[in-house]
Amino acid sequence: MQTYSLKCYKCNVTQNDNSISRIFCEKGCNELLICEDISPMKQDPLQSMRDDEESFSLGEGSTPLIPLNKIGKRLGLEKLFAKLEFMSPTGSFKDRGSSLVINIARKERVAEFVEDSSGNAGASLSAYAGATDIKAHIFVPDSAGKGKLDQISIFGAKLHKIEGPRENSTIAAKDFSKKNNIPYLSHNLSPYFSEGMKSFAYEIYSEFGEVDHIIFPTGNGSLLLGTWRGFIDISENSNLSLPKLHAAQSSIIEPIVAEFSQKKWNFDPSSKTIASGISVSNPPRLIEIVDAIKNSNGSATSSSDNEALIWHEILAKEEGIYSEKTCAFSFATLEKLVKSGIIKKNEKIIIPITGSGLKETT
Ligand SMILES: [Zn+2]
Repeated sequence: MQTYSLKCYKCNVTQNDNSISRIFCEKGCNELLICEDISPMKQDPLQSMRDDEESFSLGEGSTPLIPLNKIGKRLGLEKLFAKLEFMSPTGSFKDRGSSLVINIARKERVAEFVEDSSGNAGASLSAYAGATDIKAHIFVPDSAGKGKLDQISIFGAKLHKIEGPRENSTIAAKDFSKKNNIPYLSHNLSPYFSEGMKSFAYEIYSEFGEVDHIIFPTGNGSLLLGTWRGFIDISENSNLSLPKLHAAQSSIIEPIVAEFSQKKWNFDPSSKTIASGISVSNPPRLIEIVDAIKNSNGSATSSSDNEALIWHEILAKEEGIYSEKTCAFSFATLEKLVKSGIIKKNEKIIIPITGSGLKETT
């Protein structure tokens, strides 16, 4: 396994404590931390764990990268590809982050933890925790898909279903953690979770070399952030041109689009969207996400549920891919970026299919 230190995103101070439960800067600036790979040689964090006999794995990462010929033709694109993240052990990209978080928790002999999730991350952490004999308490909105709720339970975690918007699960998880003195290993806040996502960049680079654009359905932004920092690491030892990263959001919940384009947006807690995986009104790493998008010369775009539903069906009928609806927002964004000329005909584009449609059937 690689060696890591934690650094404050705001004051840039390297922390003395780099334990798994360290979330905020110890210098008191109340800012979240980012992970730094301080190993003699930076490399894919998942590959590094695979090489370590002591590490636990469910076979995460190394997901297929396939051409989307029909959608490419429809949009006049020659090099459009999908990376099939739903073919991960628990059916979503979250396994990349969970594997690193749980392996570090094991090393630190963590026996029990609290987490809140919109569903996929809870299911993922539940699987890794159960298989390594760590007790997990997962707080999830009661509106999460039945497939996700069933997954969390079957893997042995204690499922806490919370009424109301996604934020209520976070509040309940923090309260429970405090009252019971159990570590809160939020995947949204943990610097190690998005560190695991760097593997997405390493895999693309080793299989594909350079890529021009990557479009992410973006809620808390862990995959976008990990991918960006992964490509930065790779570029330190290569002549790699960095890809442009684009965030796709729902027009119902679009804090990243609003921050990126400096427009006003007010969250209406009563509003609903099919984009359950990215329904995050106040992402804790908002500034970090917008910085990454801007530094990559990327963009942030929102689309309506109806626009996404059209693409959800096209993806299934024309390419044989049954994604969760959240992923379809990336294709609605792709169409807009092609029409506006930001994405050009002969450029190389990758869209991660972040989660499986099978989790949302009821
Ligand atoms: Zn700080």
